[in-house]
Amino acid sequence: MIHGYSAAVEPARWQTILADSITDPRELLTRLKLGLDLLPAAIAADQSFRLRVPAPFVDLMEPGNPNDPLLRQVLPLGVELDEQPGFVSDPLGEQHSNSQPGIVHKYQGRLLLIVSGGCAVNCRYCFRRHFPYADNNLSTAEWQQALDYIRNDCSIKEVIFSGGDPLVASDKRLAWLTSEIAGIPHVRRLRVHTRLPLVLPQRITEQLIAALTHTRLPLTMVLHCNHASELGPAQRSAIQHLRQAGVMLLNQAVLLRGVNDNLTDLSNLSENLGDTGVLPYYLHMLDHVRGAQHFLVDDATATRLMGQLLTQLPGYLAPRLVREVAGQPAKVPIPVELVYA
Ligand SMILES: *Cc1c(COP(=O)(O)O)cnc(C)c1O
Ligand code: SF4
Repeated sequence: MIHGYSAAVEPARWQTILADSITDPRELLTRLKLGLDLLPAAIAADQSFRLRVPAPFVDLMEPGNPNDPLLRQVLPLGVELDEQPGFVSDPLGEQHSNSQPGIVHKYQGRLLLIVSGGCAVNCRYCFRRHFPYADNNLSTAEWQQALDYIRNDCSIKEVIFSGGDPLVASDKRLAWLTSEIAGIPHVRRLRVHTRLPLVLPQRITEQLIAALTHTRLPLTMVLHCNHASELGPAQRSAIQHLRQAGVMLLNQAVLLRGVNDNLTDLSNLSENLGDTGVLPYYLHMLDHVRGAQHFLVDDATATRLMGQLLTQLPGYLAPRLVREVAGQPAKVPIPVELVYA
């Protein structure tokens, strides 16, 4: 860029990194210096839900370690193809509460606006692995209908940009939606649920922050970080920029076997989030989605871990252990008894 600025047609740096995401299991294994014995299973499982991971996230993985907690979240494995009773394609019944395209309104006072169907990363445990993404690419008329839905329901105090990952959308789209929503008097807060500050921290640009914060609406960003190793230097710096812009930062994690199902990892996650100015919000039990059964942590183990965690952390760094149950009016808290660690 000779003149120090880019023409409108030139993709932003984050878009280039996103487009260059790793989608070939062989490339991922080779890059991490792992044996190709994992390849046939990875290729088989890749057919039902594609491998997809941006390079900045791969750079945080430990080469030569097939059990790396970040790798486990993205590498397709043969066990995904085992059928297990009770693990289904739409465990939360979201395909049915999606009556207005682009909107998931299940809880009182707040709703999800599906800003982008796509994600930057495909997490193997995600309940959206079978979600009908394509149906949520809205036309202009449908966007207007979604906004009318919010306009016409005075009980909506908070709009949550969701997806997929909402930050995959362009700055222009996000700025427009934010302005439209800020023009609805009964909406008081804006929230963004995203994994991009962890998997593609280059997405957090001044333009993005401006697009989301240029209105009267206070902004909360809920990150999705499952392990302290996801907080590399670039990720911490992106979080720092958001904090400087006055964004309230929370984190939700999923309790995942082989990723963070031990006291040390959970405690490190909370401590490192705290150091970075992010408050742990929820620790989710796994949704029983087909293909994710090998990530399951049973209730007894989960409540024991949480009971130990509560004795080790300041109260404000302890997340709430919750489960999502179809038909319930909120995330359901799981009762925990304190356990000496
Ligand atoms: C999780 C979720 C929310 C947000 O719930 P909070 O408890 O406010 O974080 C809102 N709507 C839907 C459909 C959700 O799944
Ligand atoms: S919705 Fe979130 S958890 Fe699911 S694949 Fe996308 S980034 Fe991962």
